[in-house]
Amino acid sequence: MPLSPEQQAEIDTLRAAPQPTLRAVSPGLEAHLYTAHQVLDHGFVRVIDYMGDDAAICQAARVSYGKGTKSVQNDEGLIRYLMRHWHSTPFEMCELKLHVKLPVFVARQWIRHRTANVNEYSARYSIMDREFYIPAPEQMAAQSVVNNQGRGEALQGEEAARVLEILKTDSMRAYDHYEEMIGQDGQQGLARELARMNLPTNIYTQWYWKVDLHNLFHFLRLRADAHAQYEIRVYADAICNIVADWVPFAYKAFEDYRLGSVTMSAQMVDCMRRMLKGEAVTQESSGMSAREWREFQDVIEKS
Ligand SMILES: Cc1cc2nc3c(=O)[nH]c(=O)nc-3n(C[C@H](O)[C@H](O)[C@H](O)COP(=O)(O)OP(=O)(O)OC[C@H]3O[C@@H](n4cnc5c(N)ncnc54)[C@H](O)[C@@H]3O)c2cc1C
Repeated sequence: MPLSPEQQAEIDTLRAAPQPTLRAVSPGLEAHLYTAHQVLDHGFVRVIDYMGDDAAICQAARVSYGKGTKSVQNDEGLIRYLMRHWHSTPFEMCELKLHVKLPVFVARQWIRHRTANVNEYSARYSIMDREFYIPAPEQMAAQSVVNNQGRGEALQGEEAARVLEILKTDSMRAYDHYEEMIGQDGQQGLARELARMNLPTNIYTQWYWKVDLHNLFHFLRLRADAHAQYEIRVYADAICNIVADWVPFAYKAFEDYRLGSVTMSAQMVDCMRRMLKGEAVTQESSGMSAREWREFQDVIEKS
């Protein structure tokens, strides 16, 4: 179960006591408040709090542009203009606070995003739960032969069963030893801060993660991307759904100008222009390396 009974009770209490407010309210996000969206086998993402909405982004932008915003009358147009031109600080006026439960190896990737505020479950103070991420069969994939940082076809049959068994038994054995080391029944026991060190990185941790919308978009662009590891991508996807309901204009602009966009080098733009004029450009005449040329081909084929 992703939520503990105590966490569920806290959610029920908070949801049963709505507060009147004069603050900006996003109806789309209100619907997500305190609702845990399950991710992976035991993880979740839930919104704890937020500040701002689409209008707050425009309000901030109009402070800096003043009468200059006259040409962009409606909020959606202004937000799209801001996103298109990398005018990012108005997006920092919105904030989101999430409670996330995630495997430690996913947390290691996530924590690299430094522009957020984090408060994590303490395994020095508390005992870790016996909860481990075990991939679904379709995610038990072999090493990719084309991408050192990726995975290929799903393992099949006996090999898949053997790997699954190793993952499960290693996790359980490590946890049994963890429990044994922290000691019960009159034993002194090893300190929790030391006993945790043999736990595998597929054990679940939890944290509160607060971030502004600009840096959240940066996180989502990198982690909702096909190049990101599946196990962090599913969290990013869940957050994308939340953000789309929270700030629909900003999210649409993000989809159009970041998530669905591509960055082209000067050589790529030059090749594109030459190709549009009917020239048969090859990798040799493109000025690009073989790898960059492949990436360019990917862009063209997708569009
Ligand atoms: C597909 C993928 C593969 C990756 N592979 C690896 C890997 O193999 N090894 C590895 O170590 N990491 C890897 N990373 C992590 C990556 O290098 C970044 O650390 C991570 O994506 C966080 O990005 P960020 O620093 O832009 O984000 P944030 O920390 O949120 O920073 C946002 C922006 O703020 C600025 N900033 C923040 N802090 C500083 C600072 N101290 N100094 C200067 N500018 C700052 C930068 O402009 C930065 O882009 C990978 C990430 C992805 C998405």
